[in-house]
Amino acid sequence: MVKYYHEQANSIPIYDECDILVVGGGAAGHSAAIAAARAGNKNIILLERYGYMGGDATGGYVVMVPNLSWYNKSFVRGLQEEWFTRLEKVPGAILGPGFDEIGNTSPLLIDRWQGINDCVSRLTEVPIRVTRAVYFDPDQLKIEMDKMLLEEKDRIRVYCHCWATKPIMEGNEIKGVIFESKEGRKAIMAKVVIDATGDGDIFSQAGAPYSDSTDGTTRASTMALVFRVAGVDYPAYDRWKRANPAAYDDMVKSLERLAGFPIRPLPTNRDDMVWFNNWLPNRSCIKVKDLTDTEMTVRNVIRDVIEFMRNALPIAFKNAYLYDIAPQTGNRNSRRLKVYIIYIIGR
Ligand SMILES: Cc1cc2nc3c(=O)[nH]c(=O)nc-3n(C[C@H](O)[C@H](O)[C@H](O)COP(=O)(O)OP(=O)(O)OC[C@H]3O[C@@H](n4cnc5c(N)ncnc54)[C@H](O)[C@@H]3O)c2cc1C
Repeated sequence: MVKYYHEQANSIPIYDECDILVVGGGAAGHSAAIAAARAGNKNIILLERYGYMGGDATGGYVVMVPNLSWYNKSFVRGLQEEWFTRLEKVPGAILGPGFDEIGNTSPLLIDRWQGINDCVSRLTEVPIRVTRAVYFDPDQLKIEMDKMLLEEKDRIRVYCHCWATKPIMEGNEIKGVIFESKEGRKAIMAKVVIDATGDGDIFSQAGAPYSDSTDGTTRASTMALVFRVAGVDYPAYDRWKRANPAAYDDMVKSLERLAGFPIRPLPTNRDDMVWFNNWLPNRSCIKVKDLTDTEMTVRNVIRDVIEFMRNALPIAFKNAYLYDIAPQTGNRNSRRLKVYIIYIIGR
C-alpha cells in the first residue's frame, strides 16, 4: 500500500515569464526553440534538467543518425541537417558519406563505406548504394547546439539544471510549469508550453491522453547505457568482421552471454574508437528502479566486455581502454501523447 505525506500549500516564486516555454533541450526541444525564434518569436524560454543540450543524441551517446537518404536524395533537411553541415567545418567532428556520394553504386565507394554501419543500403533487391548516415562527436554537437542558441540569445533564454516537475493549470489550460533547481522550487509562466521532455513529464500531468505501454519483446522496450572504448584499430576490426561473418556472429553471441544482454561494438567518427550500443529488455525509462538498474547493470560488465574484446580480437583491441560512459541512460520509448484528429464534414 502506498503511504502519503501531505505537503503544505505554499507560495512559489515566479522565476520568469514568456510567450513560449520549451521544456527539455533534446533534439526536439532545441529544434522547437530555435524554430520558434527563427519564425520571429521574441520571448522564448528553454528549460533543461541537465547542463547541456541534445538529450539522448549528446548525453545518451546516440552517436549516429542513420537512414537520411533514398537513392541520391537526402530526405532529411532543416535543423537536424544543419547540425551536420555546421559540424562538417569542425575537423574530425563527423564521419559519413557526403551529399555528392549518396546513391552512388561504384564498388570503390561501396567498399569505402561498407564497414561503417548504415552508410550503404541494406536492401537486397536493388544494387547496393551509398546512403547518408552521420556519425558525430557528442561533445562537438553539444558545443554546436549551444552556438545555435547563442545566435538567438536575444530571443531565447536558456535555463539549465532546472527540472520541470508540474504543470500549472487553470481549468484544462496550461499556464506554466513548476521546476526544481539549486535555487529551490520556482515557477515559469507561459502563454504556450511545449513538452519536449521525451517522457511527457508535463502533458501526462496536464490531463492529456497518453500511452506508456510497451511490448517487452520489441527493441523499443529496451534501455541502454552507452560507453565508448578507444585504443582500437577499427579498420582492422572491420576487415576481420567482413572476412569472418560466422566468427563475428559467434563473437556477438559470446558477448551477449558474458554481459547478460545484447551488446556490440559499432563504429564512431574516429578510427581508433568504438561505441558499445546495448539493449536491456523489458524496462521503462520512467521507472526509478529500471533507470537505476540499467546504469548499474551495464557499468558492472564494462571491464569484462573490454577484457573479452582484448583477448578475442587482439588484432584490433589489444590496446583498448574505456574512454568514457554516457552521462545519461539511453531511452528508446516512453510516454506517448495520443493525438486525435477530428474531421468535420459539412458546411
Ligand atoms: C542507444 C540508442 C540508440 C538509438 N538509435 C536510434 C536510431 O537509430 N534511430 C532513431 O530514430 N532513434 C534512435 N534512438 C532514439 C532517439 O535517440 C530518440 O528518440 C531521440 O533522441 C529523442 O529526442 P527527444 O528530443 O525527443 O528526447 P530526449 O533526447 O530524451 O530529450 C529530452 C530532453 O529533455 C530533458 N528533460 C527531460 N525531462 C525533463 C524535465 N522534467 N525537465 C526539464 N528537462 C527535462 C532531458 O534532459 C533531455 O535533454 C536511439 C536511442 C538510444 C538510447
